[in-house]
Amino acid sequence: MTKIIKIDKENIDEALIIEMSHIIKNNGTVVFPTETVYGLGANALSDVAVAKIFAAKGRPSDNPLIVHVSNIEQLDKIVEIIPVKAKILMDKFWPGPLTLLFKKKAIISDLITGGLDTVAVRMPSSRIALKLIEACDLPLAGPSANISGKPSPTTAEHVIKDLDGRVDAIIDGGDCEFGMESTVIDVLNETPMILRPGSITLEAIAQTINTVIYDPAMIHDTLIAKSPGQKYIHYAPKGEVYLYIGVPSDIIDAINQATARFINESKKVMILGTEENIMAYKEGIIFNLGSRTNPMEISSNLFSMLRKADELKADIILAEGIDEEGLGVAIMNRLRKASGGRIINCGELI
Ligand code: AMP
Ligand code: MG
Repeated sequence: MTKIIKIDKENIDEALIIEMSHIIKNNGTVVFPTETVYGLGANALSDVAVAKIFAAKGRPSDNPLIVHVSNIEQLDKIVEIIPVKAKILMDKFWPGPLTLLFKKKAIISDLITGGLDTVAVRMPSSRIALKLIEACDLPLAGPSANISGKPSPTTAEHVIKDLDGRVDAIIDGGDCEFGMESTVIDVLNETPMILRPGSITLEAIAQTINTVIYDPAMIHDTLIAKSPGQKYIHYAPKGEVYLYIGVPSDIIDAINQATARFINESKKVMILGTEENIMAYKEGIIFNLGSRTNPMEISSNLFSMLRKADELKADIILAEGIDEEGLGVAIMNRLRKASGGRIINCGELI
């Protein structure tokens, strides 16, 4: 039985937080809201607890988990050193959606790190998350609270759909502010590298530590990604996702043609378009992702809309690509993964 409770982030009920912390301290699993997406939390220092996360999600064991802390003492207990560049980034972006790699101490088991000698850690800014971690007085392992391969959950309803009956408790804390996962960065080498694009942009990081690059594997499919999770198909609804990239006017034409063709084959078609182009689509179930000039809006809508595709039992999802800069890089990374490689180039602009 999964216990589902509501906590108002503006008026946090401390007694409920304590109740949830007891579940974690007893090595149970509690889903909690963060500013990025919902996290599936468990005691990061217990293999029994961590194993429950992998089982609940059906997550491959080589895909390591992010550990969440609420203060620096908790970080000191699990990592060997805090490099200077990490300290600079933590000062600027913590609490918030930036996850950093550190050399792990032995107290963090191979189960969490998938056998790697580094551990990924972040301090969330969500007040409910911080209070829960504080009450547990433990670092919490907390991957996104979805069944592996599905879009990350940005509302409690999404979590309940995936994990009701598979976890001990779910805290409904309302909608997540960003709706996009944290950025994962490795500052342990000479050149800091973004392993997973996310809510904090490369541009914002570059203002703080100058040199930072994306993992080349993000662009070249032939390279092996340094973040094991990046190699999996992910964020995918049941229907087939096609991602259209290139010149917007050509994208519109191509999507309209494909829609007509699929409808002709009696397929249910969903279109994920941007606000600027939404009126140009002729058939299908049309959804507005948000404005091209406001990627934050698109990022907060994206996972909800990918999940809508399942609710509507869409066979085909045709998605409009956006510019790959700033937050657009993370959005396109998720769409590329959701498409499983069904990417259509339209015109020159790619
Ligand atoms: P999620 O838990 O769903 O937010 O995904 C966490 C992401 O962080 C996955 O892509 C993991 O592969 C990545 N990650 C976690 N720990 C490490 C690590 N030690 N080294 C590289 N990537 C990591
Ligand atoms: Mg995830």
